[in-house]
Amino acid sequence: MTTIAFIGLGNMGNPMAANLVKAGHAVQGFDLVPANLDTAKANGVSVMADAAAAVAGAEIVITMLPAGKHVVSVYEEIAPKAAPATLFIDSSTIDVASARRAHAIAGEHGLLSVDAPVSGGTGGAAAGTLTFMAGGADEAFAKAEPILKPMAGRIVHCGGGGAGQAAKICNNMILGISMIGVSEAFVLAEKLGLSHQALFDVASTSSGQCWSLTTYCPVPGPVPASPANKEYKPGFAAALMLKDLKLAQEAAGASGAVTPMGAEAAQLYALFNAQGGADADFSGIINFLRGKEA
Ligand code: NAD
Repeated sequence: MTTIAFIGLGNMGNPMAANLVKAGHAVQGFDLVPANLDTAKANGVSVMADAAAAVAGAEIVITMLPAGKHVVSVYEEIAPKAAPATLFIDSSTIDVASARRAHAIAGEHGLLSVDAPVSGGTGGAAAGTLTFMAGGADEAFAKAEPILKPMAGRIVHCGGGGAGQAAKICNNMILGISMIGVSEAFVLAEKLGLSHQALFDVASTSSGQCWSLTTYCPVPGPVPASPANKEYKPGFAAALMLKDLKLAQEAAGASGAVTPMGAEAAQLYALFNAQGGADADFSGIINFLRGKEA
């Protein structure tokens, strides 16, 4: 049993913390929202008065927060209070620069640190099947791996500090672009009188094959479990896709990478969000594209 501080008990954090409790760890949790603390308590988490109290006596500190500014400010608050060699794991999806800043704050206080964003959504968080993309020194990763296991289907050590966030935004840039590509193909097929099933049967076993088509098909029918069959209830909300595409564009700008398709995907998801799609699944972009037809 390990004592783990868990800060940020929202849609993702609460089910992740619950899986750590189920695995036999003592979890000391904190969140700013009282209702989230009630859920945590019901799941067996010891609810603490603030982040500093959560960190007291903890060997591991996990954060699951909205954005980079929250992670940096929480690290600045609690890193001075943690015992030397405590391992900090940040699983939030944040910009690479803030992730590197968080590693630096931890390093200044003699702590170990790993950035370990996840893919798999709230379903994966509840089932304990998240994919973790980890960045950090070998020693920190070796200590993080067994802690992440009860929450994970897969754990990949991507490289040094910030490499986990880099992998996450590169993956999600592929996803955003490919979902738009698959959606455009279905919209064109409709205009050409080709059935959804016929396009699916051909493309799913041809060179157009990809996850956005075969696992998450944006039209109802061919893949019964995809959100298109449930009126585009998320799943993975378009607002979160836009967040990740913006992070990718920020990183592309800062590093000088040429990503015109990523930029276009970010623009299209911004328009889809602005026109009411933010809470829909990101595959609902197909309806936005149909609305643009001449
Ligand atoms: P959420 O908004 O439900 O949870 C974030 C929690 O952090 C909130 O409960 C908030 O009160 C808390 N918080 C903010 N500042 C705090 C502070 N200073 N101290 C303590 N608590 C604080 O968001 P979520 O859906 O759980 O996502 C968390 C992170 O995971 C985000 O970075 C998101 O991009 C990423 N993510 C989400 C999903 C998803 O499907 N929801 C999937 C993959 C990654």
